Amino acid sequence: TTEIYYESDADESQLDDVTVAVLGYGSQGHAHALNLHDSGVDVVVGLREDSSSRSAVEADGLEVVTPVEAAARADIVSMLVPDTVQPHVYEQIEDELEAGDTLQFAHGFNIHYNQIQPDEDVDVTMIAPKSPGHLVRRNYENGEGTPGLLAVYQDATGDAKGRALAYSKAIGCARAGVVETSFREETETDLFGEQAVLCGGIAELIKVGYETLVDAGYSKEMAYFECLNEMKLIVDLMYEDGIGAMWDSVSDTAEYGGLTRGEAVIDDQVRANMEEVLEEVQNGEFATEWVTENQANRPVYTQLNQAEKDHEIEEVGERLRALFAWQEEQESETEDEREK
Ligand code: NDP
Ligand code: MG
Ligand code: MG
Repeated sequence: TTEIYYESDADESQLDDVTVAVLGYGSQGHAHALNLHDSGVDVVVGLREDSSSRSAVEADGLEVVTPVEAAARADIVSMLVPDTVQPHVYEQIEDELEAGDTLQFAHGFNIHYNQIQPDEDVDVTMIAPKSPGHLVRRNYENGEGTPGLLAVYQDATGDAKGRALAYSKAIGCARAGVVETSFREETETDLFGEQAVLCGGIAELIKVGYETLVDAGYSKEMAYFECLNEMKLIVDLMYEDGIGAMWDSVSDTAEYGGLTRGEAVIDDQVRANMEEVLEEVQNGEFATEWVTENQANRPVYTQLNQAEKDHEIEEVGERLRALFAWQEEQESETEDEREK
C-alpha cells in the first residue's frame, strides 16, 4: 500500500540549524524559497551572475549569490533549475556538497537516468509538488497545501526521509499529503503521462478530431468548439467527481455513443502504441534521445514547436477566444447596469 504523510509525520525542528540553497528562481524555485523562508528556514538563492531572475529574488527580499556560493553555505541543496541544465549546474556545485549534505530534487529525471551521479556520502531526496510553482506559493499563502511526492534515492545519513518530510512541511505539501514513491516510479510515470495521455495524447486527440471535422466540410468554428473548447468542461467533471459523474451529467445519447465509440477510437492499436511509449521511457531510449537533442541545440524540438504554433486550430482559437472575452465583458456590463 502507498504511504501518505501529513504534517504530524514531519518534524520541522530538523531544519532548525539548516541552510537551504535553492538553485533557480523560476516556477518551483521561487515557491520553495519563499515558503521555506516564511516557515522560518534559512534560505539562500543561487543564480548565475547575469540571471534574469536576480531582480525578482531581490524584490522578494531574499539573499541571492552564485550557485557555487549558495551550495557551499548550504546543508540542503535544492536543484530547481530546468532539468536540461541541472547536470551542468551540478558540475559547478559538486565539490561544495559535503558528507551528510542533502541534494534535493523536484523531479527524478537526472538521477534516474544517471545524468547526475552524486557521491555516496550525500543524501539524495525528492519532494515534488504535484502542481506548478505559482500554485505551491498561492496555496501556502492561503494556509492550504499542495499534494506532493516524496522519494529517497540515497540515504547516507540514515535520516534522509526525516529531512525530506520536514522540507515537505516547510513548503506546505504536508498540509495536503505527501505520497511516498521512488525516483524510478516518479520519473517513468511522469514521462509516460505527459507523453501518452496529458500533453501529447490530449493535444493529438484534439487536433485529429478537429481535422476530421474540418476535412469533412464542417466549419472551423464548430470543430474548435466541439473538439477543444468543450474538453475543459468534460475534464472538470471528471476531476471533480470521477468519470461516472461525467457520464451522469451528459445526455444518455452522449453516454451511449461515447461508451460504444470511445473504445473504437482508442483501440488495441492505441494501447500497443502506449506500451511502446512506456517501453522507450523504461529502457532509457527517450532519455538518451532528449539529452542528445539538447546537446545538438534542439533541432527537432525547434521545428515541432513551430509547427504546433502554425496549426490552423491555434488561429481559429485565438479569434474565438477574443470574441468570448468581448461577450463576457458585455454581459457583466449589462449586469452592472441592472444593479444600478
Ligand atoms: P524553471 O524553468 O522555472 O527554472 C528557471 C530558473 O532556472 C530561473 O531562475 C533561471 O534563471 C534558472 N536557470 C536557467 N538556466 C540556468 C543555468 N544554466 N544556470 C543557472 N540557473 C539557470 O524550472 P521549473 O521550476 O519548471 O523546474 C524546476 C524543477 O522542478 C525541475 O526539475 C522540474 O521538473 C520540477 N518541477 C516543475 C514543475 C512545474 O510545474 N514547473 C512541477 C513539478 C516539478 P536564469 O535563466 O534567468 O538564469
Ligand atoms: Mg513532467
Ligand atoms: Mg454535444
